[in-house]
Amino acid sequence: MLLPNSDLSKEQTHHPREFLDYKYTYPVISRRSGGVSIGINLNLDQYCNFDCPYCQVDRSIPKPRRPISVPEIRRELEKLLQSFDPQGICRLDRFSSLPDSAKKLKDMALSGDGEPTMAPEFPQVCEMLEDLQSSLPALDFKLILITNSTLLDKPKNQSGIDSLLAKNGEVWAKLDAGTEAWYQKINVSKISLDKIQANLKSLGARHPYKIQSLFCAMDGEAPSHLELDAYTRRLSELKSSGSRILEVQLHTLARKPASSACTPVAKEFLQDLSNRIGSEIGLSSKIYGVED
Ligand code: SF4
Repeated sequence: MLLPNSDLSKEQTHHPREFLDYKYTYPVISRRSGGVSIGINLNLDQYCNFDCPYCQVDRSIPKPRRPISVPEIRRELEKLLQSFDPQGICRLDRFSSLPDSAKKLKDMALSGDGEPTMAPEFPQVCEMLEDLQSSLPALDFKLILITNSTLLDKPKNQSGIDSLLAKNGEVWAKLDAGTEAWYQKINVSKISLDKIQANLKSLGARHPYKIQSLFCAMDGEAPSHLELDAYTRRLSELKSSGSRILEVQLHTLARKPASSACTPVAKEFLQDLSNRIGSEIGLSSKIYGVED
């Protein structure tokens, strides 16, 4: 059956974290992954050391710290995997209108309602995921960490990342700004942008990684030329420091942000930046989150 484009597009932009009675895990159709991504939320408490105005997590009611149960995450994943056929195609009713090509398992991603590396149990979760991946040789999927890059220097996080990347894994590290001034507008953190740059350099000395950058306008103003110069300089510096940057993922708002001051940038903005990243720095980039 030919699928109306709108069904796929709706699934790709609507990523609810609630799934049946599952506490930590949820399947989504991901444009970036090119199929099904199983999200793993290590931040039920919504803890994050950023306060991005574009964040979609509602933190209006503070949540207490909640310890994570690693065995429970594994149980949920194993139960969820029963909904996939031997070819890795998801047979859940909620995706029944989608073609098989759109619902193949591509990855399990540590993301969710906050910064996953802030969870004390992060390294144990990574070890469990490595073990789970090794126990399923017939299924070809990646383990992905989506991180704001602030805590990549912590030895416990480095050891978790080593486990995650031992077989088939990737780190998608956030870098949304070139100057401290724009960074404090768009990410709002006590940790400096230079510290993030240093963390990315040290990650690059250990593993290849992808950069994930969100660009949006704030109060109607898109990032300036000077800001983009500073951003591309940072990418260039990372590359010349030895980081193997597999891809720069450029995106803009795809869902309603926390603050109405944030609005998406035009596709042309991201296209120009993508061209620059290719021609000036020699890095490959892809644009996500804007309609073709
Ligand atoms: S880093 Fe992610 S979870 Fe944290 S505030 Fe920003 S968008 Fe939200």
